[in-house]
Amino acid sequence: MTVTGAAAGIGYAIAKRFAADGCRIAIVDLDEERACVAAASIAEVTGGQTLAATADVAELESCRAAHDRIVSEFGPVSVLVNNAGIMSQRLGRVETLPPEHFDQMLAIHVRGAVNWARLVTSAMREAKFGRIINISSGNAKLAVPYRLAYVTAKKAILGITEALALETARDGITVNAILPGYIATQTLLDRADAGILDKDSFAERTPVGRWGRPDEIARAAAFLADADSGFITGSTLVVDGGITIRGDPNEDLSHPPTPIG
Ligand code: NAP
Repeated sequence: MTVTGAAAGIGYAIAKRFAADGCRIAIVDLDEERACVAAASIAEVTGGQTLAATADVAELESCRAAHDRIVSEFGPVSVLVNNAGIMSQRLGRVETLPPEHFDQMLAIHVRGAVNWARLVTSAMREAKFGRIINISSGNAKLAVPYRLAYVTAKKAILGITEALALETARDGITVNAILPGYIATQTLLDRADAGILDKDSFAERTPVGRWGRPDEIARAAAFLADADSGFITGSTLVVDGGITIRGDPNEDLSHPPTPIG
């Protein structure tokens, strides 16, 4: 099994969960040292077999080198989780959006997911089994202003998921997307500590009244990766504490309204 962006956060939690379930895990990430530390820590905690493979998911040749290493050590990839991503702090109107920022966002999230799908699907087709799980975002369903590049990238991941699901459906391969809500990863907790985002207001806006945990996304990934989940393809699994179904964020969810009349 291969998880991109697994040196930290949601990817790390997914890799750890699968290692605990007995899978051999390849951790793909940008930084070699962080990938190695994550692989060693997961192996220690779970007793599982892990491998660190450095790659920039936006660069096909870099992914190919990492993929070759994974296949030579662990054999063909049967489960792929496209998770690597950046949640940029750059906010602004389209007029001020630097083209290179837009390109980078799409290169990592969109081209990155396609690069890895391109590398793993032939072997999955041969094996007549494969699971591809793309980590999108609640922002693919509920757009937000001033984050045009991120919203576009995360919506595009749904397009990849659906088109690829159809392309591979007769080959025992399923392709699904997970849409997380606010998940308490170190990246976002650091921003809360720095006062860049308001942790309490994010929890309050979420109907269940709290942030999600990375292991709750890992649980969803484990469900989709299961051999018995073969009839679920091209779908989106929303794991967001209800935030994307909340119409009015000011509605009081703790108390019913005072009856009229
Ligand atoms: P994170 O803690 O920042 O982890 C992301 C990992 O991906 C980091 O290790 C990062 O490395 C790596 N990465 C970034 N660019 C890469 C590239 N080009 N090639 C390979 N690896 C790369 O983020 P997270 O919160 O776990 O989020 C993971 C995914 O879930 C992202 O796709 C994000 O958009 C999505 N998501 C997160 C939330 C949330 O609330 N946390 C909500 C919705 C969706 P560096 O640190 O070295 O850059």
